[in-house]
Amino acid sequence: MLIVIFLYALFLGSFFNVVGMRVPAKKSIIKPRSTCSNCYRTLSAIELIPLISYMIQGGKCRHCKAQLSPLYPLGELLTALLFVFAYKNIGWNMELVIAWTLISLMIIIFISDIAYMLIPDKILIVYTCLIILERLIHPLNPWWDSLLGGAIGFLLLLAIAIVSKGGMGGGDIKLFGVIGLMLGLKGVLLSFFMATLFGAVVGGIGLGIGIFKKKKPIPFGPFIGAGALVTYFYGQTIIDWYFSFLT
Ligand SMILES: [Zn+2]
Repeated sequence: MLIVIFLYALFLGSFFNVVGMRVPAKKSIIKPRSTCSNCYRTLSAIELIPLISYMIQGGKCRHCKAQLSPLYPLGELLTALLFVFAYKNIGWNMELVIAWTLISLMIIIFISDIAYMLIPDKILIVYTCLIILERLIHPLNPWWDSLLGGAIGFLLLLAIAIVSKGGMGGGDIKLFGVIGLMLGLKGVLLSFFMATLFGAVVGGIGLGIGIFKKKKPIPFGPFIGAGALVTYFYGQTIIDWYFSFLT
């Protein structure tokens, strides 16, 4: 079962890559078939096999030998690993659908925000509808925690954006609204804390070793994704651990 989910998720991951790369560029996600971003030759069926084709070709286009973005195999592998991880933690039930939805959103944002520094509204709107539907079928306890989390997530980030005068993008603000709908109040606050923590640690190390340049903005989306996923799977453990110090 784990292998089936892994393989299935590799192909899904390859679709999330396409969504993350094309929607911000205002291109169709259905047509045309994927091409090399350098020579624009349409990829053959073999080249569309996730992960494997990248490894066989050594990360280069077979035709023009241009380096292919490592974002593609990374997005595919992350999707597959996280889908399997979610299944092992949750098992077959409605909550697994919600976990997979969250993972897919985070992969698309990871790709789109790194490639374009953008979290497109179209993606957020589709996922807002999806998550509202899922939380109607499988609500949080109490059910209104979704509404509270969504509203506070959105308003908290909006306040930070206003105070920091543009330190937070519009996409980040809306994304926290979506995370709040899914995870509730406690979840959205912890997600924000985790995202900031990851951003500070990775940003600090990146500046230190010269991967990131000063004055060049670092996309926050991947950190929001990591924060939300860690909160989703380990939030209660982290909260219990934290409060064990207070009692
Ligand atoms: Zn090429």
